[in-house]
Amino acid sequence: MSKDIIETSDTQEEETEYENYCYLCRRPESIAGKLIHLPNDIYICPDCMQNTFDTFNGNGNMQFVDLSNLDMSHLNFGMGQTMPKSQKVKKKKKEEKKEEPVLDLKSIPAPHIMKAQLDEYIVGQDYAKKVISVAVYNHYKRVLTDTMDDIEIEKSNMLMIGPTGSGKTYLVKTIARLLNVPLAITDATTLTEAGYIGDDVESVLSKLLAAADNDVEKAEQGIVFIDEIDKIAKKRNTNSRDVSGESVQQGLLKLLEGAEVEVPVGAGSKNAMVPLTTINTKNILFICGGAFPDIEDIIKARLNKQSSIGFRADLKDKYDGDANLLKQVTIEDLREFGMIPEFLGRLPVIYTLEALDKEKMVQILKEPKNAILKQYQKLLSLDEVDLRFDDSAYEAIAEKAMERKTGARALRAIIEEFMLDIMYQIPRDDSIGRVTITGDYIRGTGAPLIDMRGVLALEN
Ligand code: ADP
Repeated sequence: MSKDIIETSDTQEEETEYENYCYLCRRPESIAGKLIHLPNDIYICPDCMQNTFDTFNGNGNMQFVDLSNLDMSHLNFGMGQTMPKSQKVKKKKKEEKKEEPVLDLKSIPAPHIMKAQLDEYIVGQDYAKKVISVAVYNHYKRVLTDTMDDIEIEKSNMLMIGPTGSGKTYLVKTIARLLNVPLAITDATTLTEAGYIGDDVESVLSKLLAAADNDVEKAEQGIVFIDEIDKIAKKRNTNSRDVSGESVQQGLLKLLEGAEVEVPVGAGSKNAMVPLTTINTKNILFICGGAFPDIEDIIKARLNKQSSIGFRADLKDKYDGDANLLKQVTIEDLREFGMIPEFLGRLPVIYTLEALDKEKMVQILKEPKNAILKQYQKLLSLDEVDLRFDDSAYEAIAEKAMERKTGARALRAIIEEFMLDIMYQIPRDDSIGRVTITGDYIRGTGAPLIDMRGVLALEN
């Protein structure tokens, strides 16, 4: 008897964890709205109930039905009396909403503090970190003080130039997280002129709105990062309409400058089915980033031309292999590359990031607060295994990454390759206490060093 009672309450508890479905349209309660519970565990959603009434009323047979007295126990809706558990979906747990701090003038860290915070995560790129800290600080000061009527501070949209995997996206992500402002990251290659296949330029704001939980006010203080901006350079030598190049630059102009823009909510382009809302982009910080491949050739050509005139004539190949060439980029070079002057004019802060060398790669492996290797060490420490890397391992990983020429992005891929075996094998054997990864293991010419728990205990 008592067992029975326990069982029933158990099943009831289990039942409440699963969603009920409308017996007519089969939609779950979370989508269809509160279901009406009829006898015999039949659930009907308000829409279906309404439709049924409408049908009755249309025939003139029934004007009003009192649901509470309705006995539907004899009805069988063509399916089992109760829905099989295999077809039910568990209800989502309600997430507790944390109160987010609102951005105010006091909470914006001063540039030197912002840079110090960036230093914890990002290796090198000192110049870029400095520029972005100052620009972001100024931007939010401008946003939060509406008092300076007579002196209008200009918006500090940015253009970031740097090789792939040098930390452009990472820099923006980190700064948005530090400031706790919504961030949208989009790829300029997906954008096209309105009316053509692809996303309209307004879609970047749709993403920002989504990142701000559809809160327009919050989105209007957010950051938009448009990656691969070099891909919308004006196409050279084309006679056809340049719908994904120059036209996109034109389309972005009004967003960059600050305008009231109609934005589709939750979609990439406007159409009859999508609700629209208006966003003012005056206070949105736009950061564009790109690798601008081959722009070095343009810079080199310009420098050569300058120096080949008069007394300063130089050797033609003087600038070949100069690693710092990118730093000397000018607006003219970018124009030559295919960016239109109006577009560049709206990005007053232009700066470059350096390609990462082997030394920096090693630092990235070791130093940042959430370095990938530290993450693995943490994971294994939960199994009480001490994961170590010797210096030759760091070197070997960095060397391998340099070969791939995708910057720091290669690091994760390489680490994941060799860590797979470790993560698979180690938890198998309880007696392992320490694993040391060596350079030979990374190069595939040796095995990691394993120390047993017993031996380590003796050592201590
Ligand atoms: P891109 O310049 O192509 O946008 P990302 O910012 O996406 O490159 O970098 C890819 C990954 O490499 C980042 O997620 C980050 O983990 C790592 N990374 C890149 N540069 C750095 C850096 N300077 N310091 C620390 N990690 C970096």
